[in-house]
Amino acid sequence: MNDWKLPWDGACRCGQVRFTISAAPLLTMACHCRGCQKMSASAYSLSAAIPTQGFAVTQGEPVIGGLHGPSRHYFCPHCKSWMFTRPEGIDQFVNVRPTMLDDASWVAPFVETYTQVRLPGAVTAAKHSYDAFPPFEDYAKLVEEFAKEGARPAR
Ligand SMILES: [Zn+2]
Ligand SMILES: [Zn+2]
Repeated sequence: MNDWKLPWDGACRCGQVRFTISAAPLLTMACHCRGCQKMSASAYSLSAAIPTQGFAVTQGEPVIGGLHGPSRHYFCPHCKSWMFTRPEGIDQFVNVRPTMLDDASWVAPFVETYTQVRLPGAVTAAKHSYDAFPPFEDYAKLVEEFAKEGARPAR
């Protein structure tokens, strides 16, 4: 149950920016917030929190987009795909958009956030739902539970 079949490779829509992941995710999430709806051009964004030392860009030069604020949203300079986020004040992990993975077939959100602005029909199979972000004290329990039962690659 602990075989994550690492490393994983991923790329933006056009393939100019590539990355590799060599550490298991801490959590996978779907975020329904208005910012994610706009930046993903979709009903919600998917993310996988990857320990920082287990994430590396291997090709191309991602650029900062989105709000250009304290949380840094990284995009491909050519196709403008939103690829990953370095959240404000957090150095321990990078939020990677797992739909960029070469094999995203196994990706499922374990937690969903900002259901208070969830669009009609935007239903996920996440085990845990939160109106906004989870309270800080819930994260340790969520990470522990995800390590045991979170979805992982089948092959
Ligand atoms: Zn691209
Ligand atoms: Zn969001």
